[in-house]
Amino acid sequence: MLPSWLPLYYDEPLEIVSGSGRRVTDAQGRSYLDFFGGVLTNMLGYDIPEVREAIERQLRTGVVHTSTLYLIRAQVELAEKIARLSGIPDPRVFFTTSGSEANEAALMFATNYRRSNQILAIRNSYHGRTYATMGITGNRGWSASGLSPLNVSYLHSGDRLRGLLAGLDDERHIEAAAADLREVVATTTSGTVAALIAEPMQGVGGFVHGPDGLFSAYRKVLDEYGVLFISDEVQTGWGRTGEHFWGYQAHGIVPDLLTFAKGIGNGLALAGVVGRAEIVESVQGISFSTFGGNPLSTAGGNAVLDYLLAHDLQANAREVGRLLRDGLDEAVRRYPIVGDVRGRGLMLAVEFVQPGGTEPNGYATTRVFEECRRGGLLVGKGGLYGNALRIGPPLTLSAEEAREGLEILTTAIAAVDR
Ligand code: PMP
Repeated sequence: MLPSWLPLYYDEPLEIVSGSGRRVTDAQGRSYLDFFGGVLTNMLGYDIPEVREAIERQLRTGVVHTSTLYLIRAQVELAEKIARLSGIPDPRVFFTTSGSEANEAALMFATNYRRSNQILAIRNSYHGRTYATMGITGNRGWSASGLSPLNVSYLHSGDRLRGLLAGLDDERHIEAAAADLREVVATTTSGTVAALIAEPMQGVGGFVHGPDGLFSAYRKVLDEYGVLFISDEVQTGWGRTGEHFWGYQAHGIVPDLLTFAKGIGNGLALAGVVGRAEIVESVQGISFSTFGGNPLSTAGGNAVLDYLLAHDLQANAREVGRLLRDGLDEAVRRYPIVGDVRGRGLMLAVEFVQPGGTEPNGYATTRVFEECRRGGLLVGKGGLYGNALRIGPPLTLSAEEAREGLEILTTAIAAVDR
């Protein structure tokens, strides 16, 4: 019997009762290899002793409440590490409990600093489920259109299969996207745009990204008009994309603000924003969050970050990601329902289309998703048309586990493609 008092995402939800390494076990005792990590949240895998011990140590101090009122050693240490890693000059860190709140805070800092509520966002983007973040979310399925407290304009997205920028080579893609931005900035009604917010790779949107260097072309236009750039690194941060620690680094720029969440807590509620001091401190009085950066989350977050760096998981994401990518590329050639394979590192998507065409095939996607689950593999679904399978395993995934998952996935695709 399903609990009708809870909002359920899937028709047949899975009750997960335990996890170890890259595997979880459900209430019926079935084991699954996890290629999604609860939406890229489980960055290190399950039951990591170093993380468990750090949380237990904090728990034993008796101090588990936050607050911006007191100094919490774990919070101070984590802020320093993240500030240094951020690449942002003269950085300040503000902790929140979720990615939505982190983006809310970034919007608050940017709009206040620029004295404007005009925000630019990207079509098909996802930035959260709070009032303002829904308003800047370009994916209509997830936003409450018309209700935004902000004045938002959307730029064309990096979808290579559809839309205005489809089919362009990298250089022309960048030129067209920068021209689109210029037109929007130059013709805004307010005359002052606060910021552009963008995901280096659209997460919920189905792991879509524009060409490297796109943000640097954006940056040139933004700088002319004094517009800030916010990089939403909620999914792309912490080395997930393999090539870089932050997604923005693929573009040779540094943002004014970046937001982080998901993986850094390895499941604990931990998120935040890093921004240039001048921008963050433009907000009068201290920014406050009762639970943001709470002792348990930040104790865990320190252990997660130390582990990630000590084991160079970014390099693992790059290497194991390449192995997965090669296997998936093979599937495009073999199965006509696979229209596109994209992404980088351990953030990869397979898009399903009507055989041989570009029409989205949500039905095939759901069936492959279900076949994977039957075969013992958890993946995610997403994309604007619900026709992309998303792969975002813990960054500790081994080559052997990658091959095992690939085998289940290709068997599932073959079963549906018949
Ligand atoms: N930004 C991005 C890019 C996200 O993917 C998400 C969550 N899917 C959010 C923000 C919102 O994060 P949260 O669900 O923690 O509020």
